[in-house]
Amino acid sequence: MSGLMDIFAHLEQEGVQLSSIINGAAVKSPLPAMPKINPATGTVIASIEPASPEMLDDAVRYAAAAQKDWAARAAHERAEILSHVARLITEHVDVLSRLEVLDVGKLYSEAVSADVPSGAESFAFFAAACATAHGTSHRWPDAIAYTERVPLGVCAGIGAWNYPIQVASWKAAPALAAGNAFILKPSEETPLTANALAAICREAGMPDGLFQVLHGDHVIGQAICAHRGIAKVSLTGGVDTGKLIVAQSAASLKKVTLELGGKAPLLVFADADFDLAVQLALDANFYTAGEVCSNATRVFVEDSIADKFIQAVSARAAEMHVGDPMSPDMQMGAIVSEEHLIKVLGDVAVAQQQGAIIAAGGTRLHPAGVEGGYYMAPTVLTGCTDEMACVTDEIFGPVMSILRFTDEDDAVRRANNTHYGLGAGIVTSDLTRAHRVAGHLEAGNIWVNSYNLIPPGLPFGGSKQSGMGREGSLYALESYTEVKATYIQL
Ligand code: NAD
Repeated sequence: MSGLMDIFAHLEQEGVQLSSIINGAAVKSPLPAMPKINPATGTVIASIEPASPEMLDDAVRYAAAAQKDWAARAAHERAEILSHVARLITEHVDVLSRLEVLDVGKLYSEAVSADVPSGAESFAFFAAACATAHGTSHRWPDAIAYTERVPLGVCAGIGAWNYPIQVASWKAAPALAAGNAFILKPSEETPLTANALAAICREAGMPDGLFQVLHGDHVIGQAICAHRGIAKVSLTGGVDTGKLIVAQSAASLKKVTLELGGKAPLLVFADADFDLAVQLALDANFYTAGEVCSNATRVFVEDSIADKFIQAVSARAAEMHVGDPMSPDMQMGAIVSEEHLIKVLGDVAVAQQQGAIIAAGGTRLHPAGVEGGYYMAPTVLTGCTDEMACVTDEIFGPVMSILRFTDEDDAVRRANNTHYGLGAGIVTSDLTRAHRVAGHLEAGNIWVNSYNLIPPGLPFGGSKQSGMGREGSLYALESYTEVKATYIQL
């Protein structure tokens, strides 16, 4: 246990050199290191050694060897180790949350209550689920047959930067539960918790080579997609990256799961609990500084309450405390990088040029004590129309666009007028309306009088261009297997 604490303390140290974890050991890369910046302060805190193609080959070889032994174990033995991972994550929630803050710049209060627990829940859920896997049986006059779910072999996960430990756990836990080996390539922006998770998996009793980490950017990501020894790749990232992953995986006909971007609508009806609607709109836009794929960034409000709603939401947004993510007084932390902050501010400028009105925020902030970090005021845009870029394109920052609608048909038609389909929200006191509208909305996840809640066991994922496949459920477990049928002549 002290070994784990030493590893976590090392990862927290400024100037740490992050190597890939291959076959249970940190492996130096021959390639030049990349800087890792703490978004909360703007200072370089670590350097990342991107994995080389040879290191990928090694990792796949070790993974293939470890997978044979892992898949041969009884499911309840795998479950015991995955449960142990869940317990270790929970025991170390504090330090893992601090690492997540160093990586992402998000609030510690969010990481400790949502991100890290969600990682533990994923391992616990798939530990419980894996021993329940079963197939079908068939009978003919002269034969019987049965099917079973078998692992794919070596699977890889490519992560986004907004929920690093959650994304890693949502992919690794079902893959490992199903009997696969797993190679994680975290986002180059947020590499720290990947090494922490590798240490936890080892401590929990996983054989070396079963869970490995390869650091680096799209270059090693491309090599993972092209590698013939890897059976499946699961990406969390942008839509354009998703399209590239499919193309890059074509030559080896890899199975692909894609968790991509969104531009979700929140439909606020005049009969809604007004205070709840305001709170949900704020949460669905400013949680994690708006860097949430399923965020409801198009807030459609029924005409009769729109003025009051805009006034309330803008006032609440303007009052939010933005600053040091470790401070319990803050309601929003940093944006992940200066480059991304500049992009988001640029999107707001375009919105203004196209006629949107900034009702709150719209500016960069330099909060006292963390002046060098990447902060932005929670931003509310009004006067928006359906064609504006702020309404059609994912911004992935703390920017809410408010639109008005006349009636239910108008709201549903416009909510569906997008190539995204990740999430959608409905705020209403009319249960019949809630079911009717939910039935018409085109999205993988619909929330009624709530938003962004994804308990373990519930599938999460997008329709249309927001993705392919689902995470966080038995659908995810299934997606890391294939069906094998055995026919027996009598
Ligand atoms: P990104 O697409 O830029 O990068 C995601 C990952 O893909 C990174 O690890 C990156 O190194 C890697 N990558 C980039 N190009 C690649 C290539 N050609 N081949 C292989 N790997 C490649 O996304 P991001 O900026 O890290 O994250 C933001 C995006 O992720 C947003 O669009 C957001 O909506 C989406 N996202 C989706 C979900 C979801 O569950 N649906 C969750 C979080 C984030």
